[in-house]
Amino acid sequence: MYLKSIELSGFKSFAKKTELVFGSRIAGIVGPNGSGKSNVAEAFRFVLGEQSMKSLRSRRGEDLIWGGSPALSRSNRAGVKVVFDNSKRLLDLDFKEVAVERIVYRDGQNEYLLNGTQVRLKDVIRLLAGANIGGSGYQIISQGEADRILNASPRERREMVEDALGLKLYQHKKAESERKLDETAVNIEKTRSLRREISPHLNFLRVQVEKIEKAREMKEELSAKLSEYLAREHAWITQEDARLLAEARTQESELKKLGARVNEARGKRTGDSDDTLKELQGRIVEREHKLSMARRESEKLSRELGRAEGAAEATNVTVEQIVAVPHVRQFAREVSEALAGAERTDDIAAVRGLIGQIRERIKAFVDGLSGSAPQTNEEMKQQVKAIANSLERVQKEESELAQELEALRAKITQVRDAGFTAERDLVGLESAVREAQTKLSAVSGARGNIAVARQRFEEEVREGIVLIGAAVHGWEKSVIPEGALSEDRGAQEKRRREIERLKIKIEESGIGNGDAVVREFNQTKERDVFLGRELEDLERSAASLKDIIAELEKTIDEHFTSGLKQINEALSSFFTKLFGGGEAKLEVEKPKRPRGAKDDDLDEDEDEDDIPEEEELYAGLSISVQLPRKKVRGLEVLSGGERALTSIALIFSMSQVNPPPFLVLDETDAALDEANSKRYADMIRELGGKSQLIVITHNRATMAAAGELYGVTMGQDGISKLLSVKLEEAEKVAK
Ligand code: ATP
Repeated sequence: MYLKSIELSGFKSFAKKTELVFGSRIAGIVGPNGSGKSNVAEAFRFVLGEQSMKSLRSRRGEDLIWGGSPALSRSNRAGVKVVFDNSKRLLDLDFKEVAVERIVYRDGQNEYLLNGTQVRLKDVIRLLAGANIGGSGYQIISQGEADRILNASPRERREMVEDALGLKLYQHKKAESERKLDETAVNIEKTRSLRREISPHLNFLRVQVEKIEKAREMKEELSAKLSEYLAREHAWITQEDARLLAEARTQESELKKLGARVNEARGKRTGDSDDTLKELQGRIVEREHKLSMARRESEKLSRELGRAEGAAEATNVTVEQIVAVPHVRQFAREVSEALAGAERTDDIAAVRGLIGQIRERIKAFVDGLSGSAPQTNEEMKQQVKAIANSLERVQKEESELAQELEALRAKITQVRDAGFTAERDLVGLESAVREAQTKLSAVSGARGNIAVARQRFEEEVREGIVLIGAAVHGWEKSVIPEGALSEDRGAQEKRRREIERLKIKIEESGIGNGDAVVREFNQTKERDVFLGRELEDLERSAASLKDIIAELEKTIDEHFTSGLKQINEALSSFFTKLFGGGEAKLEVEKPKRPRGAKDDDLDEDEDEDDIPEEEELYAGLSISVQLPRKKVRGLEVLSGGERALTSIALIFSMSQVNPPPFLVLDETDAALDEANSKRYADMIRELGGKSQLIVITHNRATMAAAGELYGVTMGQDGISKLLSVKLEEAEKVAK
């Protein structure tokens, strides 16, 4: 027994809280017409989630709420609570007891509660479907609706059977999966469309990024080349600068030295040497004069000696004899020449010297004239000797003067030669100065070029910073290969040209550092990859949903086929029991296109081929009935009682196969005659073994089948009341 109790408060005629506690598998509800019995059956329908107001005999939610009577004012809400024993986990909730409650307010708002916690309607429906409760409502057979299953369309009938077979849960799952599949399809389309949307932008960005990558590669190449070039250039500039500075210093010091030597050489050539030559020449003139005097003296003495020697040989020699006329003439000429010499020179000292000589010559001549004639030969001999001595002295003097003159002349030659050498040296030195100056100016020029090269180097570094940023300083760490500085400058020039070409290419690419573009590309790509993955996930889940749906369809199909077989077997048995023969059978119709709930207007002749492929086919259930001893077949020919019996047989068969936890049968037996009422009561008992039953009846046989009876009464106040009654009282209560 799963159904423990039902509590109605403010529901329809049950103005006050009224509880029905079920203590038996079959509970009978009895009472006079209009007392509120059917309201109890409807309370079941209501609490299990019925949405059709018509099924609740109402037009709107408000009609379900106690409307008030002179005795008791109207309620604001109607509530029904049904309590299930869940110790066998009838409902998929981890509680021993589960209370399902529904409340409706006057504004039509509904509330659903599970063990007091507000939930959604679909949560209630899903929970109950899992326990084979609810759905098409075949388990609550309202008054006069027993033959609803007969009146239903084949499609509705199939739904009721499927419900009875407990396929609702699978169908819910299938519907849920189909809904998810639809959602997934929408999401797949959305995702595809998003990918399509970003695709051109992504392609554009990819091309941009490729260009940026290319530019980056070029920049890396430029960085490497620039590092090598700048390192070499800097080393070369440094080396050349140092070399040229040293060279300039050398040339400057050379020039200084040369300048000193030039000055020295110029001094030698002029000044001193001229004075020396003048002095030497003066001395030569003087010595020549002296020599000439000495020569004349020597000649005179030689003649005197000759005469003295001659005179010595002769004994008497007079002065006149000694002083010859030519001798006087000679004397006069000498004096005259000496005077002429004195007249020619401006040199006072020379003039004085000549005057001195002239005086001495005159004295010598006078001495010679006034000398006494030798007295004797001896005297003569002494005179000869004296003259000879004088001659010797003069000749010595003459020889010394000649030597002196020779030495002076040699000296002049030497001084002159020295002058020539100095001149020559000066010319050489001046040429060396010019050469050194030329070199120095070449060095200055080269240093100027180095300064230009340094400026260009700095400019190249600045340009490099603009193009490749701080990486340009890589050259500072570059190692210069050995011998690099001695290579031909042409190689470095070639490097420079290559760098220029690269710079132009980078500039032509027109792309800056491109970080923002790369970032955007990466974000867009990530988004695309994300969408791609999402698409894969969606396609995977669509595939798995299709699998689930196929699996569920298979399960539904299998359960339906085997369930239908069992229902037909039970139906055959109940039908025979009720009619004492005959046959009733549920048959699956030819698949047709569904046209809403009612498919009476389906064209029987419609060919399956005419049905568009995408439309799902639906095969409803028809009932074939063959009464015993009657030739005619079909539902149309049945009497009211026969229809009721057939419905009961069908309802009971359905309940047999997959017994619901409980069944509410509201005066299902109303149309039965006494004999059939008894059969009905037997079937109730049989059915009670499988499902809990709440039977509303006026029928004594049915009342007798119930384990407990509740009487519903309504007094003057219009409020339905419930009381437990015995069978004997029940009949009275029922009237
Ligand atoms: P019968 O045996 O004739 O089928 P019953 O016992 O099934 O009768 P119900 O149909 O359950 O009777 O009850 C009908 C009664 O409930 C009526 O008297 C009706 O006035 C009353 N009723 C229905 N809705 C409301 C409501 N909202 N407020 C008050 N009373 C209501």
